[in-house]
Amino acid sequence: MPTASFDTHFEALPSNQPTGDEIRDEILKNPGFGKHFTDHMAHIRWTVDADWHGHQVRPYGPLTLDPAASVLHYGQEIFEGIKAYRHADGSIWTFRPEKNAERFRRSARRLALPELSDEDFIGSLKALLAQDHSWVPTPASASDECSLYLRPFMIASEAFLGVRPAHEVDYYVIASPAAAYFKGGIEPVSIWLSSHYKRAAPGGTGFAKCGGNYAASLAAQKEAAANDCSQVAFLDAAENKWIEELGGMNLFFVFKDGRLVTPRLTDTILEGVTRNSVLTLAKDEGLTPEERPISIDEWREGAASGEITEVFACGTAAVITPVGELVSEEERIRLTAGGNNEVAKRIRTKLLDLQYGRSEDKYGWLTQLA
Ligand SMILES: *Cc1c(COP(=O)(O)O)cnc(C)c1O
Repeated sequence: MPTASFDTHFEALPSNQPTGDEIRDEILKNPGFGKHFTDHMAHIRWTVDADWHGHQVRPYGPLTLDPAASVLHYGQEIFEGIKAYRHADGSIWTFRPEKNAERFRRSARRLALPELSDEDFIGSLKALLAQDHSWVPTPASASDECSLYLRPFMIASEAFLGVRPAHEVDYYVIASPAAAYFKGGIEPVSIWLSSHYKRAAPGGTGFAKCGGNYAASLAAQKEAAANDCSQVAFLDAAENKWIEELGGMNLFFVFKDGRLVTPRLTDTILEGVTRNSVLTLAKDEGLTPEERPISIDEWREGAASGEITEVFACGTAAVITPVGELVSEEERIRLTAGGNNEVAKRIRTKLLDLQYGRSEDKYGWLTQLA
């Protein structure tokens, strides 16, 4: 991709109170996740008459929103999650942003929001990084997974309580320095299987990255936490049988014979960029990827027989995380053959080496941001 073409038309309005070097360095030493934000944000406005306009990078700060803004009432909102990685030579790169841009348009169509071009989406990341590049942490070693997490989002800001797609919309990108997502690193996590909550239904918004899906998953997440689980696995709404995904990560199953199975995409599953990348990298690792329905019974039986040797979850924020056990009100499913999570670790290292520029970018997945 000719990345130079995305150096676009964003007006820079630099902050006159940027964070001091010492304070920023202190934050970057231990950023946690999603707690600290950089000095600027990108913004583009859309109106039904003027289309996208007013491209800016301006100081980070509270939004002024009319209390009647429709996002506050009807939840017309979508978002993305993508990271900026600092390479050893100091340059800053992101991973497959055109996939996120395409998904953002898919989400926009489902939520009846206006579509944003690749040029504006990737351009907004570049424009923000042009100001806030010093917020991208430098990894201390190959096992240091620090990055700058970028959060593009779009909201219906028109002050109107009638129910129809908004005529005024705002797009923003904010950025937050991040350490590894789960504190335990690649320790296997326990996952809660929700017995009656569903994340998505056929014809609904499951494939779109929208705030509403997350709002709908929080009661199940609360159940998970009460049962010492860190995430929730959801089954399909129609038959209560097929594995879909976690609240914010896709699932993979490693079989003894080298098959790597992940649920086939439907409109109730969000297509992760990490999922797609794992399917490609798995082939290089001599695995046989399979996208097909996989049931809770197959998980239970495969775990018991040793046919399934690993289960892992994947997403941009936490990369690849082994699943140690599946817990529900009735049972605990543990892998008899489990233990070393060797495949998950191998693919994880491959992916991170690519993202941090430690291996050859043979698929052309990296785009330079700064
Ligand atoms: C964002 C997200 C994922 C992971 O997608 P990536 O592009 O890999 O980060 C998976 N499931 C849901 C529901 C998500 O919102």
